This record gives sequence, C-alpha cells and structure tokens, in this order.
Amino acid sequence: MTGIIIAACAVGVTGLLLGLFLGFMGKKFAVEVDQKEIDVRAELPGNNCGGCGYAGCDALAKAIAAGEADCGACPVGGAPVAAKIAAIMGAEAGSQERMTAFVKCGGDCDKAKNNYVYSGVQDCTMTFSYTHPMPPTLHSLWISVVAR
Ligand code: SF4
Repeated sequence: MTGIIIAACAVGVTGLLLGLFLGFMGKKFAVEVDQKEIDVRAELPGNNCGGCGYAGCDALAKAIAAGEADCGACPVGGAPVAAKIAAIMGAEAGSQERMTAFVKCGGDCDKAKNNYVYSGVQDCTMTFSYTHPMPPTLHSLWISVVAR
C-alpha cells in the first residue's frame, strides 16, 4: 500500500514540475501577434487563392495590419470585406469595383469569328510540347499530369 502512495506522489510531483516548466517556457518564448492582424484575417474569405498578389489570406492580413496593403486588396471579398477591414484598421475603405471574368471569344467556335486557319496538331498536349521544349523525363511527366 505504501508503494502505491509513493508512486502516486512521484507521478503527481513530476506532473506538477513539468506543468510549471511548460508554463514558464510558454511565457518566455511566446510569439507576440498583432491583434489587428488576427481581426483582419478573420474577415478575409480564406480562399487562399492568391488573387490579391500575396501568398494567401494570412500574408495579406499581415500586410494590411502592417499598413503595406490597402484595406480593399482582396478582390474576392470585395466591398463588404473591405468595409469591415477598414473599420478594424480605422481607415477609409475606398471604392471597390466588382470584377467578373469575361470570355472574349464567346466560349464557342460557332460564336467566335475565325480569324486564322490552324493546320497544326489538333491535340493541346502535343502542341504544348512543341512550343515548350523540355527534357524527355519532364515531358513525359507533364503528359501524365495533363492526362489525368
Ligand atoms: S484574394 Fe482574398 S481570398 Fe484570395 S488569397 Fe487574397 S485575401 Fe485570400
């Protein structure tokens, strides 16, 4: 019975010491994060598409919080997100122009005017390999990726 009590005390004291050590280290090596960066990140859509020109939403949030990017730099979020971010940053949102994709050719060979006569290879992968020469290994890898 005494052995069990001694073992329980040893485990308890070890756990207490480890807890104190981890708590101390957590405080000593804590990374300070700008609260504005966290708030801005929370408002961004989170698509991580790179449409803003940054590596992702985290990178844009960091840039906005540092004052290196405009509040309306996220084209995906548009005006509503820009307004929320501007409120966080205490700045003006500015005007946002909605951008949409435009298929200039009309999206169909029947709708588009035929300006040229193409008489080359009728396969996009082969055409790509002719216009972008690469080593055979990379080329076969490219074809296997495209074929999927
Ligand atoms: S454009 Fe918007 S959604 Fe896309 S990565 Fe940038 S912040 Fe994120």
